[in-house]
Amino acid sequence: MSEHNLLQTEQGKALFETIASRIETDGPLSLANYISLALGDADHGYYHKQDPFGADGDFTTAPEISGLFGEMCGLYLAHMADLSGLTQSAILELGPGRGSLMADMRHVWSQIMPQLANSPVHLVETSPALRQQQKDRLAPADLYWHPDLDDLPATPIFGIANEFFDALPIDQAIWRQDHKETAGSWRHRLVGLVDGRLGFVDGPALSPAEIDIWHLASMPAPTDGSIAEYCSMADAYAGKLATHIASYGGACLIIDYGRDGPSGDSLQAVANHQPVDVFHQPGDADLSHWVDFSALRRSATSSGARLVGPVTQSDFLQAIGIAQRTEAAAKLADAETRRGLFAAVERLVSSQQMGSAFKVAMMLPSGTGLPPGFAAAGDQGSTI
Ligand code: SAH
Repeated sequence: MSEHNLLQTEQGKALFETIASRIETDGPLSLANYISLALGDADHGYYHKQDPFGADGDFTTAPEISGLFGEMCGLYLAHMADLSGLTQSAILELGPGRGSLMADMRHVWSQIMPQLANSPVHLVETSPALRQQQKDRLAPADLYWHPDLDDLPATPIFGIANEFFDALPIDQAIWRQDHKETAGSWRHRLVGLVDGRLGFVDGPALSPAEIDIWHLASMPAPTDGSIAEYCSMADAYAGKLATHIASYGGACLIIDYGRDGPSGDSLQAVANHQPVDVFHQPGDADLSHWVDFSALRRSATSSGARLVGPVTQSDFLQAIGIAQRTEAAAKLADAETRRGLFAAVERLVSSQQMGSAFKVAMMLPSGTGLPPGFAAAGDQGSTI
C-alpha cells in the first residue's frame, strides 16, 4: 500500500471512530448529517483534506476536461448580461473547485466584456484548501468568499454552479409496507451501527409536514423498500439565489447530473475513480447524488424567480455553438492539440459520456420566453 493510501485509510478510521462514538451516545444520525461529516468534517472530511479533481483524484469535471467548457459558459453569461443591459453587476460561483471554470470565463470576459471581467467575484466554498487554490488561480480578481448566500451585494448577479448541487448532503426515506399489505408509511432512512459497522437503519415515520416538503404525496404508488430523497440544502441555496435574482436581476446557470424529477436511490460513492460502498472509509470517498431539477424549480418559483430547463448538456452546448467554436480553435492548433480538443468536446457532448446525464438549467427573474440554448425545454421544464 502506498504512503498516500495508508494515510487515507488512517484518516478514514479516525472519522469512522468519531461517527461511531456519536451514534453510540446520541443514536442513529440523519443521512444528511453523515454526508456532511464525511465530506465536510474540518479534520478528516473529503473536501477538506485533498484535491479530488483530475486524473490523480476521484473525478474529473467538465471545466477540468477542457477550457472550452468555461469559454462557452463565459460567452453565454456575457450574452445574458448584454441582453439585460445592466451596468453594474457581480459574479457568483457556487462550489468553484480548483477555480478553473471561473478562470476560463474571466479570460473570455477580458477579451469581450470588460464590465464582467472587472466585476467582483463572489465564491461559495466551504473547503479552506480549495479556497486557497481558488485564490492562487484567480488573482488578481476582486474575490469574496461566502459560506452561504446570505450576504451577497445588492446588485444583479451573473452566476454559475457546476457540480455543486450534487455534492450537497441529502436525506432519504424508505417506504415500509405494513404486514397486511393494505397500507404503509415513509420512514426516515438513518445511519446507525449494524454489527459494529455503519449501515442504514429505519427511523421514525415522516410527519405530514415532511411528506409535504419532500413532495411525496404526488409520488407514484411506492412499494416496500422504495426510496425517496430530499436535499434541504439545495432548497435553501436555490431559494436564496432565487430571492436575490427576483429582487436585483441577473441569471445563474446550474449544471449537474440529474433529472427533471426524483431519481429514487441515487446516492453514490466514488474513490480513485471506482464506485465504492457509501459507508466505505468515511472521508476517503466522494459522496454525491442525482440532482432533482424539479425540486430546484419549485424553490425558484416559490421565491419569485423562475428556472428554465433543464436541457441536456449536449443540447445546450451544441445550441450555443460549441462545434463552431471548436472548429475555430482547431484551425489555430497543431495536429495533436486538435485531436485532444475534439476528444475533449466529444466527452462533453456524447450521450455515452457526459452529454445526456448532465443537464443545464438557468435561474432567471420571473417572466416568459426561453433564452438561447433552452429551446429544447418548455417554460415549465422539459420531459427529461
Ligand atoms: N465546480 C467545480 C467543482 C465541483 S465539486 C468543477 O466543476 O470542477 C463541488 C464543489 O462544491 C467543491 O468546490 C466543494 O468544496 C464545494 N462544496 C461542496 N459542498 C459545499 C457546501 N455545502 N457549501 C459550499 N461549497 C460546497
